[in-house]
Amino acid sequence: MLDDTPLMEVQGLTKHYGFVTACEAVDLDVFRGEVLGIVGESGSGKTTLLKCMAGEVSPSSGKVLFEDDALGKVDVHDLDEPDRRRLCREAWGFVHQNPRDGLRQRISAGGNIAEPLLNRGDRHYGTLRQTALEWMDRVELDRGRINHPPATFSGGMQQRVQIARSLVHGPKIVFMDEPTGGLDVSVQAKLLDTLRGLVRELDLAVVIVTHDLGVARLLADRLIVMRHGHIVETGITDQVLDDPQDAYTQLLVSAVLH
Ligand code: ADP
Ligand code: MG
Repeated sequence: MLDDTPLMEVQGLTKHYGFVTACEAVDLDVFRGEVLGIVGESGSGKTTLLKCMAGEVSPSSGKVLFEDDALGKVDVHDLDEPDRRRLCREAWGFVHQNPRDGLRQRISAGGNIAEPLLNRGDRHYGTLRQTALEWMDRVELDRGRINHPPATFSGGMQQRVQIARSLVHGPKIVFMDEPTGGLDVSVQAKLLDTLRGLVRELDLAVVIVTHDLGVARLLADRLIVMRHGHIVETGITDQVLDDPQDAYTQLLVSAVLH
């Protein structure tokens, strides 16, 4: 039976930074197995919204509800610290825009990939190493570099390490902030290919922030368009991009296409 209860619900989320309102009265749902894209120009509040959803930033008001297997429906920002950390470690994955925020530069690529398994208590070295190698294959990294630290990798390869690390423990939802931002176009295209293959294969929810509508079209099933901290339009990706209803979305789409 198709499960149509949302995995995550954002209700009335507002975030102020001093006098700046980064997000205001945001409501959205994330469903199991879908890729939800959050698009909008720079400064529209995408990263703030994602960080509030992922529990990294506390909202000024509003709720982020998550349907957890063990705890039931919880407000991410009401959890006590051990439960919140368990969610982060076991049910969620993260791909940061800057690999320096998502990877430990001093430990090996293999160590970075295996760390989420270590964090949840897996201790068998042979199994951890084997799993890291398998994930290196899946994200198309050279196995021979398992012992090399990420700092010796190119930007695109570091994002591949981050992607493997975000998926290795079988999360229910993965948060990605501009995962291909700052990469050369050809590197970006290859990375998007890998990412698309993985999210189609693994049945997980992905929330991906991007200012790039091409990336959104390739990866997202559904889109949320943000402007000045508000959602201005939401819908199936192709419908939003091919037939935008909101004046701002029309502008955004035409600015890219013409
Ligand atoms: P986007 O990811 O769409 O570029 P952000 O969420 O980063 O948007 O930023 C939304 C607004 O909030 C911007 O005006 C930005 O300057 C402000 N902002 C974001 N993070 C902070 C912060 N840590 N402190 C103060 N202002 C912030
Ligand atoms: Mg951002």
